[in-house]
Amino acid sequence: MPHRIIKGIAVSPGVAVGPALVVRWEAPVVPDKPIAAHQVQAEVERLVAALAHAKERIARSRAKAAERAGEEEARIFDAQLLILEDRDLRTGVDRLIRDNHFSAERAFQLKMLEWRGLWSTTGSAMLQERLADLTDVEILVLSQLLGVAEPSLEQARPDTPVVLVARDLTPALTVQLDREAVLAIACEEGTRTSHAAILAHSIGIPAVMALPEVLDRVTTGETVVLDGWAGTLQVEPADSTVEAAQRRDRQRRELERDLEAGSELPAQTTDGTTLAVRANLDLPEELDLALRHQADGVGLMRTEFLVAGRGQISTEEEQADLYRRVGAAFDPHPVVVRSFDLGGDKFPVGAKRIAEANPMLGWRAIRVCLDQPEIFRPQLRAVLRAAAHAKLRLMLPLVTRVDEVLRSRELVAEEARALRKAGVEAAASVPVGIMVETPAAAVIADRLAEVADFLSVGTNDLVQYTLAVDRGNARLAERFTPHHPAVLRLLAGIARAGRAANREVSVCGEMASDPVSVYLLVGLGFRVLSVAPPSLPLVKWMVRQISARDAARCAEAALELATADEVSAFARRTVGGAVDLRLLDPSSPLPARARRASFRR
Ligand code: PEP
Ligand code: MG
Repeated sequence: MPHRIIKGIAVSPGVAVGPALVVRWEAPVVPDKPIAAHQVQAEVERLVAALAHAKERIARSRAKAAERAGEEEARIFDAQLLILEDRDLRTGVDRLIRDNHFSAERAFQLKMLEWRGLWSTTGSAMLQERLADLTDVEILVLSQLLGVAEPSLEQARPDTPVVLVARDLTPALTVQLDREAVLAIACEEGTRTSHAAILAHSIGIPAVMALPEVLDRVTTGETVVLDGWAGTLQVEPADSTVEAAQRRDRQRRELERDLEAGSELPAQTTDGTTLAVRANLDLPEELDLALRHQADGVGLMRTEFLVAGRGQISTEEEQADLYRRVGAAFDPHPVVVRSFDLGGDKFPVGAKRIAEANPMLGWRAIRVCLDQPEIFRPQLRAVLRAAAHAKLRLMLPLVTRVDEVLRSRELVAEEARALRKAGVEAAASVPVGIMVETPAAAVIADRLAEVADFLSVGTNDLVQYTLAVDRGNARLAERFTPHHPAVLRLLAGIARAGRAANREVSVCGEMASDPVSVYLLVGLGFRVLSVAPPSLPLVKWMVRQISARDAARCAEAALELATADEVSAFARRTVGGAVDLRLLDPSSPLPARARRASFRR
């Protein structure tokens, strides 16, 4: 077979070379045969036993995940336990057995089919990703009921290590992965935030997701090179390709080490402008890396993990402890706690499951919080309580209107008063800022700056809403262009509004971790960036290479251009004088002699 290159999404770095092992794990086939009336009770008992067995298996996988990847990753399995414990599921299957005389396996499969249909049509990215959990649960329960072997990597354990090629690895299979046996993972489905991606990353196995039709384009035994930096899978490569990929891998790792060595240096441009580079935290586990990379505080602490995939929202007490802990870890730098950004791609627990035609334009973020004070108020109290001990700020997501900020401030003030009256130790107030992530907020940034203490640009959503491009749709990935002049003009306006009102304006979307965009953002006047902890060394290093004056000239000229491509090309050309961009491009070979000294500047 000829050499082929398949392009996907890089989710876990590293290069692996080896034979492919194509695996297809699917739910077993269920025979469609009805049961007799006298068998009903026995079928129900079989169901109960199979569910108990599945729970035990999942608990074992959870323990294994906790051991290999940490407690936070292990919580992924809690979602599966919740499925098994769901009362609707149990009574639904029970009814199908009793009323329709379906066998336990048939009834269970029908219920899974119904759930799958419901979850797929909500448009919620989070529920889409949870489909892997459903598959895991379905396979486990059906295998038990039908008496067939449960899928396990034991069956596929090869003599030589392999690159595993699959449609999508379920969480249970991902934790079974053995670094000795599995060199890397290539999946046809999945995204940067799917379970398999998260687990592969924390276990340290290179992985690429969303490889189109990879199951049909690769055969077991073919040699493949998986490049978890560039997001590619090369099939039957030439020797020179293999060597080049391995060389690049070595160089990238060296570069990462060099960049990390400069983490303690301030992010100061060559002409003396100092930036604050803060960390985005999605999970508390990321705190250590953010500290190691010397983040200047936390610019965005996402709190959805306190809700998503759990039976209930963390209590006020638990939240206050967590916020206090993170605040203390970064003292004296600020920690910005974002209130729950639920709905859209993140499902609200405790709220009614509403089907929305356009969830991204629907009941989400600040809209949910203001409509559900029983969720919002405890979070506000927790922030106020933690703020008695740490430099905390509160940030509101997806703001589009001035009254959303004013109402939130009223609630903060009410809760502060109530805490004081109850004699609970808490701050008298906290700074309340907003995320600017809709065109509406960007256009009225001047008005919002009058009522908010600080602004932070969420470019992930701002680009999505400005360009009408779904941020999670792989088919539109090419159109998701933060350098589009429309986005650039909005960014310039937001920075201007912040300066005029003397408010801090930061950028906390993914754009802030792209080196060329860092140049443009500095040029547009942003002085605070917030990025995922692994990106901190690179962003700080980039700031140290550039001059703020040159960046401003570049941004001014870029604002006059007509297309995203022109802006990108122009910015790359301009910054190219200061930085060797080949160092930053995961797919290009690095120069033979990397200028190591400059990394520490
Ligand atoms: C954003 O939209 O840019 C952002 C930082 O928020 P999130 O990615 O959590 O929506
Ligand atoms: Mg957002």
